[in-house]
Amino acid sequence: MSEAPRPARAHTGGTGRDAVVVGGGLAGVTAALALADAGVRVTLLEGRPRLGGLAFSFQRGDLTVDNGQHVYLRCCTAYRWFLDRIEGAALAPLQNRLDVPVVDVDKPEGRRLGRLRRDPLPVPLHLGRSLAAYPHLSLAERVSVGRAALALKGLDPADPALDDQDFGSWLARHGQSARAIEALWDLVGVATLNAVAGDASLGLAAMVFRTGLLSEPGAADIGWAHVPLGDLHDRLARKALDSAGVRTELRTRVTSLSRHADGRWSVRTPGETIDTDAVVLAVPQRETHDLLPAGALDDPGRLLRIGTAPILNVHVVYDRPVLARPFLTALGTPVQWVFDRTAASGLREGQYLALSQSAAHDDIDAPVAHLRERYLPELERLIPGARTARVRDFFVTRERTATFAPTPGVGRLRPGARTKAPGLYLAGAWTATGWPATMESAVRSGVSAADAALGALGRPRPRRLFQFEEAA
Ligand SMILES: Cc1cc2nc3c(=O)[nH]c(=O)nc-3n(C[C@H](O)[C@H](O)[C@H](O)COP(=O)(O)OP(=O)(O)OC[C@H]3O[C@@H](n4cnc5c(N)ncnc54)[C@H](O)[C@@H]3O)c2cc1C
Repeated sequence: MSEAPRPARAHTGGTGRDAVVVGGGLAGVTAALALADAGVRVTLLEGRPRLGGLAFSFQRGDLTVDNGQHVYLRCCTAYRWFLDRIEGAALAPLQNRLDVPVVDVDKPEGRRLGRLRRDPLPVPLHLGRSLAAYPHLSLAERVSVGRAALALKGLDPADPALDDQDFGSWLARHGQSARAIEALWDLVGVATLNAVAGDASLGLAAMVFRTGLLSEPGAADIGWAHVPLGDLHDRLARKALDSAGVRTELRTRVTSLSRHADGRWSVRTPGETIDTDAVVLAVPQRETHDLLPAGALDDPGRLLRIGTAPILNVHVVYDRPVLARPFLTALGTPVQWVFDRTAASGLREGQYLALSQSAAHDDIDAPVAHLRERYLPELERLIPGARTARVRDFFVTRERTATFAPTPGVGRLRPGARTKAPGLYLAGAWTATGWPATMESAVRSGVSAADAALGALGRPRPRRLFQFEEAA
């Protein structure tokens, strides 16, 4: 980084065929692949030493650890396209059919297992039997949940009026008890929105529940990486980018962007200035704000008004297997979702569990010793096998800005892919995709930015890539 800046480098001399993508998270990698697949010469610049952004892996001794457990749903058609494109779909398979074990540890009679699963029936009957038998709600609550689900199906998530309301108040207005919110709506909503119902935009919540539970019978089937996330989002992504001819530069932080009188752009890094026809800025909202040239957005300050929300992962390595299921979720305990990461991490003996704690405002800054005292006894309540096992390792990963905060009103702060500066496009899970901050949102945003850039560069849109938009 100490070397003298190299002179400006132009790929094609302004033939409308080159682009620079800034940011190598899922949004940036997607945009780079989509542009390269359409014949554009692409340079991808990423500040860190790896691709994958917020969804990555690191080594801890012999263990390969994900910074946070990630799951996706069958309805995440863009992320599934991404997995296919990088030839990683087989490494992150979907359940054949939605089946979520829900253990309530707070019953007088001890632990009680319920399941959220689907039958091979049309919507909404596919969940009817599971809801009817769901032991964590009273009969009246189950009936009321069914009614609220049907009311939710009638909402239009794109209606801006919904974005100003909070989901919790809507649930209360639709007769949902505190227990129904805890044992059902928040069980799904906290993990997907990264906020409790009272803090979440009704528009985003309606989008999640309608798409996941009320669109297609299989929409909510869950998929997750059976390998470290880095195998997908870094190694395989890099391989796909290399094969597509993308020049990828890691450890390369972009410091400024500017547009010339002839309409071309200069992208500056500490070591190089690149001249290009189009720029896709696929970095988080704060970095976007800092890099945006004047006039590119009306009220760029709105980007700074998009809040963030934390996710904590608690990692526990036991000296023996304690959990027979690949994952479960819990009620009556601070533990939210528990995943078995043993095989994916490369652990040979014992079992490695990762607890994914969304909307973890209270825990995110707590010392490790405090979190250990809080979570190990809870795991013993939840998983009987943990009571007799020895803890070999305990550590946490903290992502303080894991997602944008899906608060009411956030919709009007999220910009689309196009800016007022010709040739400059925005991507990132936080942009206006209609989705909460997810891998799906990131990939969708990358596709939208590439699509807008291809239109402006006069390049054809590849049909297969954009198919998911037509299906939506
Ligand atoms: C712990 C955790 C758990 C999660 N769980 C789930 C889940 O279960 N399911 C799900 O779908 N989603 C989940 N998410 C959200 C998901 O990871 C993100 O929404 C998605 O990865 C965001 O991708 P992105 O490309 O928009 O942004 P980012 O991943 O933030 O990528 C932006 C990239 O830009 C780079 N950058 C920034 N500034 C510059 C610069 N000046 N120059 C060059 N590069 C720069 C950064 O280094 C980064 O790599 C989770 C996130 C976390 C943190």
